[in-house]
Amino acid sequence: MSVADESIAVAGLVNSQKLACTSHLLTRKGAEIRVRVHSIPGRDGGQALIFGDIDRFRAPLVRIHSRCLYGDALHSDDCDCGPELDQAMDMIQRADAGVLLYLEQEGRGAGLEVKAKGLRVTQTEGRNTFDAYRTLGFEPDSREFDTAARFLTEQLGLHSVSLLTNNPDKVHALQRGDITVTAVPLITEPRSHWAREYMEAKRIHRGHRLPPYSLRRIGRRMEQTCFALGVVATTAAIYWGPRELAVLAFMTLAATAVAWHPARTSVRLRLRAWRRQLAQRPRHDPTSAV
Ligand SMILES: [Zn+2]
Repeated sequence: MSVADESIAVAGLVNSQKLACTSHLLTRKGAEIRVRVHSIPGRDGGQALIFGDIDRFRAPLVRIHSRCLYGDALHSDDCDCGPELDQAMDMIQRADAGVLLYLEQEGRGAGLEVKAKGLRVTQTEGRNTFDAYRTLGFEPDSREFDTAARFLTEQLGLHSVSLLTNNPDKVHALQRGDITVTAVPLITEPRSHWAREYMEAKRIHRGHRLPPYSLRRIGRRMEQTCFALGVVATTAAIYWGPRELAVLAFMTLAATAVAWHPARTSVRLRLRAWRRQLAQRPRHDPTSAV
């Protein structure tokens, strides 16, 4: 083992002991996952939540999330922060391991009051969110992610991660911190026209890896058309087709509806947790019953 590897192993060991007293189960969407918590000191710090056993993965899932009171806690429809966090947590729960770094960077580092002023400028003057910040005399984005990168390497011993993000700034910050990054995009649907414009501004002005809204709209229209055709075909099969075909068409339509239903993630996570419990249950060994 090299000196560098040894230092990482020691850091990991110290960290494990520190974190052990915070270990507990968290229930989310009906499924449990073990979590440990650690504060991230320094500028742009926050909280680190380490889910499950990340040592099982060469490049574990990592989400670096900037605090957004409106999106995360109030479930505002006007930005994509809440849906991105939700999707990232779904992926971490499905993998049964991952890291969430929740950084105190409200309003892209400028605070909630500046963010509110920016929203007012956006809504009254029609400027995008970055121009609104400039109008107010602030940097469009004053966050830095170097603290997060140092935490990943120095505290968790991670030098390779699957980063759940569309933001190239986060990718570059981790790469500067000597971390190999595989970017995993988070594609969410805008829930209001404000969110749509916010996401478009991030794509156009900050290079976020998001599909143009026009392409998303075409995709959604195609989904809706396919579903409508499925309803028509099922109805026709029930009225005029043989019974077997009608049953098959109905089951296909029902499966499609279930696959799109908002509760599908919860159902999948519960099924996954149930399968995991079954797999971990000690098997009866007939030779030991003597
Ligand atoms: Zn937000």
